[in-house]
Amino acid sequence: MKTIGVLTSGGDAPGMNAAIRAVVRTAIYNGVRVLGIEQGYNGLINGNIKEMQLSSVADIIHRGGTKLRTARSEEFKTEEGRKKALNVLEVFGIDGLIVIGGDGSFRGAQKLNELGLPTVGIPGTIDNDLGYTDYTIGFDTAVNTVLDAVSKIRDTSTSHGRANIIEVMGRHCGDIALYSGLAGGAESIIVPEVGYEVDNVCKKLLKGKNRGKLHSIIMIAEGVGNASQLGEEIEEKTGIETRVTILGHIQRGGSPTARDRILASQMGAEAVNLLLAGETCKVVGIKDNKIMSMNTNEALEYERDLDQEMYKLTKILSI
Ligand code: ATP
Repeated sequence: MKTIGVLTSGGDAPGMNAAIRAVVRTAIYNGVRVLGIEQGYNGLINGNIKEMQLSSVADIIHRGGTKLRTARSEEFKTEEGRKKALNVLEVFGIDGLIVIGGDGSFRGAQKLNELGLPTVGIPGTIDNDLGYTDYTIGFDTAVNTVLDAVSKIRDTSTSHGRANIIEVMGRHCGDIALYSGLAGGAESIIVPEVGYEVDNVCKKLLKGKNRGKLHSIIMIAEGVGNASQLGEEIEEKTGIETRVTILGHIQRGGSPTARDRILASQMGAEAVNLLLAGETCKVVGIKDNKIMSMNTNEALEYERDLDQEMYKLTKILSI
């Protein structure tokens, strides 16, 4: 392997820069050339590619976003688009590709692999929605961003004696809501894997109010329903003044936590090592605190399950 390409694709996540840095530096350490492909598969199709040096990744480990920028590419989903991409890879002499992104990006890598290109995926997405790995890069930072918001909302919530619904990201995966809800002491946590009954949420709020609680936090993942509508229903049924905060894209930004930087550094290095060892179709992950890798096709078969024990614990602790 003489030249490795690296790109970030799909939604950005804090820690992607740390992963790019680890890829570039591990490759150069091993005497391999690295080319940075800008704007995901779009940049690949358009030949938006430049050589990365040690200095290209200086001063980025602490920055959110992605230095290589990211994109979603409809053209790459077509056979024609992928042929163009393969041609560009050949022209630039790229003989192995590292893709940092979510499951969609991995499916793209899988398609390139079917055309003969060795690929390794690194999970970069705040949602933590990949079943084969315990954590994805960006998740820990997103949870901490949400926690910071919860603390602030709790202050004003207490002053006014209100209930607050906080909507967080996670379309099909409730992990951000679950982890930040547990860490933030939320009274109710609503996740897509379980769903909810408005009456149960209301009962809990009233129970808390009756024993003198000054405020309540309800964490809801964006994929479950309409937070504003839930707020109206709660007010109507309980008479408790309710406010809704949709955190939105703030969760995708910010300086990555130590945990995300370390995870990204380890995964980036492992991805290069796998290509150098002759692996051709892998994704990197972390299982039981150990960096691991798995065949991409197998990894994509894994369904993401909610941590039921943790969910049960949130119920007990918010009684
Ligand atoms: P996030 O979890 O942040 O949404 P993602 O990687 O899942 O990240 P997607 O938008 O699903 O984000 O995928 C990113 C890009 O990967 C797509 O824009 C497309 O170019 C490519 N891609 C996704 N699915 C496929 C597929 N089945 N075949 C080929 N390419 C794909």
